[in-house]
Amino acid sequence: MYCKFCGKEIEENDQFCPYCGKEQADPISTRISDSGRKWTELKVPNDTKNPGVAASLGFFLGWFFLGPIGYVYLEQWNWFWLTFIIQLFAVPLTFGIAWIIIPVLLAFHQYQQAQQINKLVLARRERGTGREEEAGFEEQEL
Ligand SMILES: [Zn+2]
Repeated sequence: MYCKFCGKEIEENDQFCPYCGKEQADPISTRISDSGRKWTELKVPNDTKNPGVAASLGFFLGWFFLGPIGYVYLEQWNWFWLTFIIQLFAVPLTFGIAWIIIPVLLAFHQYQQAQQINKLVLARRERGTGREEEAGFEEQEL
């Protein structure tokens, strides 16, 4: 790789450029963003998920502060806790405005997440050996 400051070629893992001495990346912020990325990374469940079901759970349960249950259906527990905690703070901090927005956001996000999960599950099945066909997968509109 090349130094971001002086452009000289340096070792891949050099934290400081040996030529100009400038730091290449803040290792702590890199580590935090790495762990954050891992934390929100999608887990691949055994079966495909119905995006319509996921979105319905997020939307209808969202009015009762139970919208994150849609992530339980999608088997994304990290997302469940993340959104559960966010809504606890968001609703009082926005004087209730978040209460109207959250069900819509959750429905939208859970719908997209279900589609992403299905792609990952199907990709894994294609790679895998002799697994059952995608019988359980059906698209359903809201
Ligand atoms: Zn340099």
